[in-house]
Amino acid sequence: MTPELLQTLRSILGESGLITGADVSARATSFRNPAPMVAAAIARPSDTAQLAAVMKACHGAGQAVITHGGMTGLVDGVRAASDQLAVSLERMNRIESIDTVQRVAIAQAGVTLQAFQEAVQAQGLLFPLDLGARGTATLGGNASTNAGGNRVIRYGMMRDMVLGLEAVLADGTVVTSLNTLIKNNTGYDLKQLFIGAEGTLGIITRLSLRLREQPRSQQVAFVAIPDFDSVMATLRAVDRGLGGMLSAFEVMWNAHYRLITTPPATNRAPVSVDSPFVALIECMGGDPAVDGPRFEAVLGEALEAGHLSDAVIAKSDSEAQAFWALRDDVGQARRHGPGIGFDVSLPNVKMGAYIDEVRASILGRWPDGHFFSYGHLGDGNLHLVACVGSDEPEARADVSRRVYEPLAALGGSISAEHGIGRQKKAYLDISRSATEIALMQLLKRSLDPRGLLNPGLIFDPDPA
Ligand SMILES: Cc1cc2nc3c(=O)[nH]c(=O)nc-3n(C[C@H](O)[C@H](O)[C@H](O)COP(=O)(O)OP(=O)(O)OC[C@H]3O[C@@H](n4cnc5c(N)ncnc54)[C@H](O)[C@@H]3O)c2cc1C
Repeated sequence: MTPELLQTLRSILGESGLITGADVSARATSFRNPAPMVAAAIARPSDTAQLAAVMKACHGAGQAVITHGGMTGLVDGVRAASDQLAVSLERMNRIESIDTVQRVAIAQAGVTLQAFQEAVQAQGLLFPLDLGARGTATLGGNASTNAGGNRVIRYGMMRDMVLGLEAVLADGTVVTSLNTLIKNNTGYDLKQLFIGAEGTLGIITRLSLRLREQPRSQQVAFVAIPDFDSVMATLRAVDRGLGGMLSAFEVMWNAHYRLITTPPATNRAPVSVDSPFVALIECMGGDPAVDGPRFEAVLGEALEAGHLSDAVIAKSDSEAQAFWALRDDVGQARRHGPGIGFDVSLPNVKMGAYIDEVRASILGRWPDGHFFSYGHLGDGNLHLVACVGSDEPEARADVSRRVYEPLAALGGSISAEHGIGRQKKAYLDISRSATEIALMQLLKRSLDPRGLLNPGLIFDPDPA
């Protein structure tokens, strides 16, 4: 970065709005990577106008920028090079309004998911997006990655919760499209350009978000399931029987369940550790007096039909939390060495055979390795972790090929919710056609002709 640009940025942002030198390396590269951060500087705009001025100056100077939200993304999207400017939304963390009648809120992009959830809850409403990194991840990051999380089966992904947004384009143009209507078919739905675009088409600064009514009852059960066909039968039975109240259906294959319920893991196993499959089933409703008995009846029918071999219903909030803690305990594989993780998507009826094929392929190649699978089965989304003694590029490429290649024939996707970033771009053509990728690149060139926003994410920069 030129000294002139640095000076211009300082004059736009003020001393506290620009971080340089040792103060950059005092930060961690990301939530999961403690290595010192690398960047030419970190810009910390306090509002949209400041960010627009920063981008205008960067555009004039041909300066590349990498956008930072909470830096909890899992596909290596926030790592900057030493000549790139990091733009952090951390000072744009104000909830501007919560309209409890229209059930819409407007917030700046740097608000953390948890702060937003809590503010909305205090008003008696619900913002349904929820994921393990809630305390650090930001609304802007959630939108840029189109985050999914735990309750997609009921409320959809972040895309389904964003009514409108404001973004700063690569040249500093501000597009304010803070729609607050549920229905608005007036031409192109511009917000969709930025949702899931991983910061490559614009920097999201503000969002209008749809809120829901707080559920008045929550039931959680942990069940044992004898085989994969019964997993599918259970999903259909509970979805049908609960009449729209099903809010989570999280499945674990036996190796993962055993991993998280045996020492050094401290979780207690609610059902037998020999169960071929287990699932956390949650239902949220509006009438505690009838929802509990209905939940019990639906699970009872599944037991009678032989879809379930055991079922334990949480009798208290703390027991429900303990069941969810089992689901959230996703780091145990590390005790078997470095893990290579995946978040794939495929039609759920095909998951049983797919996991058997991938497991056989990986453990055939690395007989001493370990393979774990679990996920948001109700959404067709699985998380896979392979521990093969190394996560260096060669091992990662070999494992990735074994995980991704069968997906093409199954109509699956190499990323259900974490995105492509730098980590998966070599495999993008497994899930997207050449024509689709060419259209994405055309959009990128149109909105960011100098290739300044998050260059190298999703696909390689355009050599032109
Ligand atoms: C423990 C843990 C659990 C997780 N669980 C889930 C889960 O269940 N479901 C799921 O979908 N994801 C999950 N994630 C990953 C998920 O993508 C992030 O947690 C979250 O959505 C990213 O938000 P962030 O603010 O941290 O974004 P960052 O990591 O800062 O950024 C992510 C990407 O978006 C870009 N970006 C960030 N802010 C903006 C902005 N304002 N405008 C434009 N671009 C921007 C960045 O440049 C980067 O490319 C999990 C991560 C962790 C660590």
